[in-house]
Amino acid sequence: MSYPLPEPTPLSKPYWDALKQGHLTFQRCRRCSHAWLPARAECPECLADDWEWTKASGRGRIVSWVVYHHAYHEAFKARLPYNVTLVELDEGPRLITNIVNPDQGNGLAVERPVELRIEAEQDFSLARFALI
Ligand SMILES: [Zn+2]
Repeated sequence: MSYPLPEPTPLSKPYWDALKQGHLTFQRCRRCSHAWLPARAECPECLADDWEWTKASGRGRIVSWVVYHHAYHEAFKARLPYNVTLVELDEGPRLITNIVNPDQGNGLAVERPVELRIEAEQDFSLARFALI
């Protein structure tokens, strides 16, 4: 069973290409300096279409998470239980991801610092995070 994979668009392709090269990137507005993920054509803050891809430090913190004990897609059955976590990067953008070592220390908790761990999944590289 193969996993559902990202479907890059012309807009999001630079994000996926950067991950393959080992970097997490996000968009930053040149007008108001707001930063965001996922990829979109205009700044969600000021609606300017003047932005650039920026390399993230790879550091962030947990905002929230859930642990799945039931697979809603066959391909995820073997991974149960697994977490789906909202991480806020130090630079501001938030992304939905997985924590690769959820049992480390005291486990998942709001505000716990995390660090980028890029993992290969078939032909893609995905931005996951580790508790530190
Ligand atoms: Zn803006």
